[in-house]
Amino acid sequence: MSKGRILVDMDGVLADFESELGRRWAELWPDDDFKLYSQRTRFDADQKSVAIPDVQSKFYQIYTTPGLFATFEPIADGRGLEAINQLLTKDYDVRIVTSAGSQVHAFGEKAEWVMNHLGREWVRRLVVTRDKYFIDGDVLIDDRPNACKDEDSSWQQIIYDQPYNQQVDDCPRLSWGDGDWLHTIEQTVAQVQASR
Ligand SMILES: [Mg+2]
Repeated sequence: MSKGRILVDMDGVLADFESELGRRWAELWPDDDFKLYSQRTRFDADQKSVAIPDVQSKFYQIYTTPGLFATFEPIADGRGLEAINQLLTKDYDVRIVTSAGSQVHAFGEKAEWVMNHLGREWVRRLVVTRDKYFIDGDVLIDDRPNACKDEDSSWQQIIYDQPYNQQVDDCPRLSWGDGDWLHTIEQTVAQVQASR
């Protein structure tokens, strides 16, 4: 039996979505200052929070481009990939849980990314769903704020540290570059299991 189930989001936690977004943005709109987007203080950008003309429509133009999701580099020089492999060797049941929205091509691209960077064993551990509360687990590591406020979920969110989620102060927080990540996960899993 596993020591617990750890759900791990993909974009912004394992896959470096923002760097590829910035690269493509600079190619398409070289006059925009992408730093205004990458240094935003909220997860979702709108015209009020990010002073780039047509920021939302430009974002969606890139976001919906076929092929995008297979091109991301691993985050933190691959330390996230090493971390989830380490969790498996410690007898945790680890699943990658990611949303592909309604873009049919993104489902395959996400599986392709996992195959390329983690291998076949991990393709079997991939769950693609927009509704992460459906999936049972002890913790969900995710960069999107407020996943932990969903009353129907069985898991506790651990927020993956990013500039755009600094306002979240009611979740444990980790980054793969931070030496405490394993302790944060193990402690949170133990707390969740003890509270059931
Ligand atoms: Mg994410």
